[in-house]
Amino acid sequence: MAKLYFYYSAMNAGKSTTLLQSSYNYNERGMDTLLFAPALDTRFGEATIYSRIGIQKKATPYSAETDLFAEAETSLERNPRIRCILVDEAQFLSKAQVQQLLGIVTELDIAVLSYGLRSDFLGEPFEGSSYLLAWAHEIVELKTICHCGKKAIMNMRIDTDGNPVTSGNQVQIGGNDSYVSVCMNHFLEAIPLHKTRSISS
Ligand SMILES: [Zn+2]
Repeated sequence: MAKLYFYYSAMNAGKSTTLLQSSYNYNERGMDTLLFAPALDTRFGEATIYSRIGIQKKATPYSAETDLFAEAETSLERNPRIRCILVDEAQFLSKAQVQQLLGIVTELDIAVLSYGLRSDFLGEPFEGSSYLLAWAHEIVELKTICHCGKKAIMNMRIDTDGNPVTSGNQVQIGGNDSYVSVCMNHFLEAIPLHKTRSISS
């Protein structure tokens, strides 16, 4: 039976590059792939998956309303050569969409490879990642490093002066801030999760 995979990491670990490489490996063996990317990146009704090393590929856009199972089923009817589905920015999936991915692997017997961030710039888990970490058959960490040389596992949002941003929306649209991946120690210097703990009553 096919499996659901979740490849997770901090930002800039090469998730999109790994996704596109995996898609290429299928294509090289004469099998087709179906790529999903968030509608956030939509241009001209299509989405594009970009990798930082310069390669890119068109993808089917998804939003919170997209039924990924129905999309996959329709695509497979049109093209039975599809053997793998790849999902970029999988942290943005809803719980229902992760359930749809489980449906694809179990009912359609097609492998699903999803790629995403584990947590946001405040250290909070994304919905999609939470359920993928809980339910994927296989979870794989893609590694990148902090400026100090330790493994980076967190994402820090920084303003144009390079200072950490400590509040705001989980998904930032149209802002000037950017992100750096950092180790837990450097993340906690900016967002002291360990100092805000409390026992709720
Ligand atoms: Zn560090």
